[in-house]
Amino acid sequence: MFTSPVLEWPSLPRIRVRNTLGNRVEYFEPLEPGIVRMYTCGPTVYDYSHLGHARTYIAFDAIKRYLVLRGYDVIHVQNITDIDDKIINKARESGRDWREITELYSNDYFEMLKKLRIHIDIHPRVTEHINDIIEFIQGLIDKGYAYIAPSGSVYFDVDKYEGYGELSGRFSPEEWRQEEDVLREKKHPYDFALWKAWKPGEPYWEAPWGRGRPGWHIECSVMSSKYLGPQFDIHGGGQDLVFPHHENERAQSEAFFGKKPWVKYWLHTGYLLISGEKMSKSLGNIVIFREAEKKWGALTLRLWLLSAHYRAQLDYNEESLIQARNNLRRINSAYEDLTKILRESSPGGRLGEKELRTVQEVLQLYTDFHNAMSNDFNTAEALAAILRLTRIINRDIVPNEYYTAASFALRLLKEFNTVFDVIEEKPVTRADAELEQLINIIVKVRSDLRARRDYQLADWIRAELSRLGIKLYDYPGGKTVWRIERE
Ligand SMILES: [Zn+2]
Repeated sequence: MFTSPVLEWPSLPRIRVRNTLGNRVEYFEPLEPGIVRMYTCGPTVYDYSHLGHARTYIAFDAIKRYLVLRGYDVIHVQNITDIDDKIINKARESGRDWREITELYSNDYFEMLKKLRIHIDIHPRVTEHINDIIEFIQGLIDKGYAYIAPSGSVYFDVDKYEGYGELSGRFSPEEWRQEEDVLREKKHPYDFALWKAWKPGEPYWEAPWGRGRPGWHIECSVMSSKYLGPQFDIHGGGQDLVFPHHENERAQSEAFFGKKPWVKYWLHTGYLLISGEKMSKSLGNIVIFREAEKKWGALTLRLWLLSAHYRAQLDYNEESLIQARNNLRRINSAYEDLTKILRESSPGGRLGEKELRTVQEVLQLYTDFHNAMSNDFNTAEALAAILRLTRIINRDIVPNEYYTAASFALRLLKEFNTVFDVIEEKPVTRADAELEQLINIIVKVRSDLRARRDYQLADWIRAELSRLGIKLYDYPGGKTVWRIERE
């Protein structure tokens, strides 16, 4: 007697992350079950967004989306630094008001997010949180963690906080030196500014200890806790922010709240290289997002940015972008093929042995995809599983019009797309549906011609359709599959 095998979606592995704090792999358990609170350091808006920004933001977008796919509610906060030395300098150089600068470049940043399909829940701006920042600094002064210098600047007293250097793995005070331009008014070379006293020509706000503006590090401590509470789950950013920025954020926050850990998991993205070299202003090799987008399109960039694990280095070069563009096409046409099969055919009776094997292969890839994503969000391996899926779709599912296998494959492709978001969903209009039927009739006529060995006319039909962008693929056994392929 034939017993139908059980086809079940495999259970999913627990999520593990590599925590920069302690530099070890840990199981992911949010502080509050079911809810993930996440903060990433956003841009200082004094110039156009470049690919390095895009890389970090997209990495955390994918992490967030995967957590959502796994059933978590995620609150994602990413700040905008709209007052800073760099902004003031840019305003001075260009003779424009600093607010004009921040307006221009924050719009550029928002445009990039939109094109790259990155969605952030809360976007706090520093200049809208000055009072919160002043209160926080006052709290640090009151608790003895900060001191006011004669100039009116306020500094964090690193010696008062135990645990400085743990995040970055720098354990000697010599390695902590920072802000060397203000050495003479700091108690120690490693103290850092919470508040910068006003200098003529600079924007300022009034504070109890004098007019001035916030330092860079304090803003992230203040705005993250304002929206996520005194402790939260994930803090992300580029690898270059580990020291001093994140070390300082952590010191301020644990000092202020008196709670450890302030952040449970610290995640950092690897460097972006440009043809093998580190991207930097001094090398003059910065690639602006809007330029790259003109050349490659946002979705090719999105897929390319996710083609490496977020901690690994990623290299911007012609070859890898062409690869991403080809992969994007493959994934999109596999998606269209599957939806066409499900639209046009209907479920058969009992599953044949060959189709059953195909379904089992799809289930294995489902496991591979989730294993990769659960293993510290390894998008590179997850993508590799999906590229293997497209091969199975092209080799087995499409030529045989396997309805059941197509529906399994489509579900996997949709889960993949929840994270990667690179499929261009085209709504099927009535005209599309009619065109599809018409092409089916022509393809049927051509198949009959081939069966009667009238190859001349059959080839003519194929060539004419090809000119219109309708490509026919003949498989052994007489089956023909068509696709609309337009450049
Ligand atoms: Zn920050």
